[in-house]
Amino acid sequence: MIEAKNIWKIYGSGEAKTIALKNINLKIEEGEFVMIIGPSGCGKSTLLNILALLDVPTKGEVYYKGRRTSTMSENERAIFRRKVGGFIFQQFHLIKTLTALENVELPMILDEKDKHYRKKRAKELLEKIGLGDRLNYYPHQLSGGQQQRVAIARALANNPRIIFADEPTGNLDSKSGAIVMNILKELNEKGITIVMVTHEQELLKYASKIIKLRDGELIEIIEK
Ligand code: ADP
Ligand code: ADP
Repeated sequence: MIEAKNIWKIYGSGEAKTIALKNINLKIEEGEFVMIIGPSGCGKSTLLNILALLDVPTKGEVYYKGRRTSTMSENERAIFRRKVGGFIFQQFHLIKTLTALENVELPMILDEKDKHYRKKRAKELLEKIGLGDRLNYYPHQLSGGQQQRVAIARALANNPRIIFADEPTGNLDSKSGAIVMNILKELNEKGITIVMVTHEQELLKYASKIIKLRDGELIEIIEK
């Protein structure tokens, strides 16, 4: 589904040069639950952002369903990010001035869905995720775990094939983290491919494939 070939990412130049990724090669198949693990600063977020087409490699190519993504137009990349991929971040990244329901509606507004459909779907997604009684709450009125669940509902709004998650439990207590991980597990069982970054060893049990990074290098791929 996604293939990365000879990916390098270099930030800056001269004395300020950082080689964040060194010749990464990997494949992600449909239906997998992939975890990218390694210590802080080893290049995990950089790799995730490149696989999600949020960033471009300095060298190398990312293929999506056999297609070279470097030849996609900015518009095609935007469509990929809006419809193929859903994104979840450590800091939730909800819009503070919008309610839970409105945050979930947002990607559907960008996708030009009509208002009635948007409201109905946003409500259903929040209900499924256990927040049916929090539709009109603003992010600051919700706990971290609840905010991350709103972010998951938002990521699901346009029916993505893949969820990209960067340390989605990084700011949560272990109980809220387990709720979020179980939601991701259920989504994966329904066929959504998950690509997740973590540095927490105890989360590896959820993965079907583990990609280990160290200092920008891929040191091991474990398939379960
Ligand atoms: P991780 O997610 O594993 O913590 P990152 O991908 O965030 O690692 O970072 C990998 C390396 O690249 C680090 O040395 C980091 O400081 C550097 N880096 C990340 N983003 C940038 C950037 N925008 N500009 C310069 N250096 C960066
Ligand atoms: P979760 O399991 O989703 O993380 P918590 O157990 O942390 O939820 O929160 C329990 C209850 O406390 C929730 O119903 C939530 O509305 C409320 N709550 C938690 N944190 C806050 C906060 N910062 N502001 C307002 N209400 C909060």
